[in-house]
Amino acid sequence: MRQAILRAPRVLDLAETAVPSPGPGEVVVRIRAALTCGTDLKTYRRGHPRVAFGPFGHEAAGDVAAMGDDIEGLSEGQPVAFVHTAGCGRCEPCRRGRENLCATLFDEIALGAYGDFLRLPARIVRRHLFPKPQGLSYIEAAFLEPLACVVHAWERLGQAAGARVAVIGLGPIGLLHIHEARRRGHEVIAVGRRRPGLGLAERAGAGHTLDSSTTEVGQALRALTGGGPDLVIECTGSPEVWNAAPDWSAPGGRVLLFGGLPGDSRAEFDATRLHYGEVDLVSAFHYRTADVRQALHLLATGAVKPYDMITGTRPLGAIGEVFQDLDRGIGTKYAILPEGVA
Ligand SMILES: [Zn+2]
Ligand SMILES: [Zn+2]
Repeated sequence: MRQAILRAPRVLDLAETAVPSPGPGEVVVRIRAALTCGTDLKTYRRGHPRVAFGPFGHEAAGDVAAMGDDIEGLSEGQPVAFVHTAGCGRCEPCRRGRENLCATLFDEIALGAYGDFLRLPARIVRRHLFPKPQGLSYIEAAFLEPLACVVHAWERLGQAAGARVAVIGLGPIGLLHIHEARRRGHEVIAVGRRRPGLGLAERAGAGHTLDSSTTEVGQALRALTGGGPDLVIECTGSPEVWNAAPDWSAPGGRVLLFGGLPGDSRAEFDATRLHYGEVDLVSAFHYRTADVRQALHLLATGAVKPYDMITGTRPLGAIGEVFQDLDRGIGTKYAILPEGVA
């Protein structure tokens, strides 16, 4: 089988490796579609703060190819949706229902979605492997992971409906946030630099769009909302935006810091603003099982239709060029198809 391996920053190749065989409790999936992700691009450029270099890619869907003897309720060829991590269920965060903070979350991670086959560890099979809902393409099903992250953030926010929300950064994650904000009854101002993102934001339901390359964002947000949005969602992963976002929200507002920064980064906020303005900073990481299930429901029912967030489809053999393109700012999210067709 072919397996994309990231060996060092910007050193990505497609190796020939043995097809994995499943151990007890494990399932091997034949990948039918994988998606590139902003996290992958960051990892491609500089490595990942928590994960070593190696098999690459984490968003995918496919068919069951083989499974451990003890697996029940699945059959070979069954189309499945899944995510690439699961909590252990035993550590302190897991017992408190915060499986996204599981002490061993990264120890049994299913990396290597850019390949022909992927082995899922037992904990993922137990908690985060589902029959692919009918009517959902493999590409749509592969959105389960990013959507689960977005759902988790909104569950954490618990924002009452009717808020004015500014979404900063209009890559796929920003667009998923717009969908979710609209679904939860909020008004959205979308802020981004690039034309496709701004257009897609409108289609996703943003009432206003701001081009941050030609507008002073804080001023424009204040003018549009009469004092600032109730919630600012940071989806750029850029330190400048992390630092500025608390200045952009209304007094008493909140900032969701969603786009991770490189390891060892420090952020700086205007302390006076936080204190006298009672601006709350909220961070969100990954997903709990409840978030994954909710995301699956949203996809299955068509409440979120992610298809227009795909820049295009590419064959697995082109994975090197795909990341060179992403690195140069060409496109935002590609569907990688091992067999070349959806
Ligand atoms: Zn992802
Ligand atoms: Zn745990």
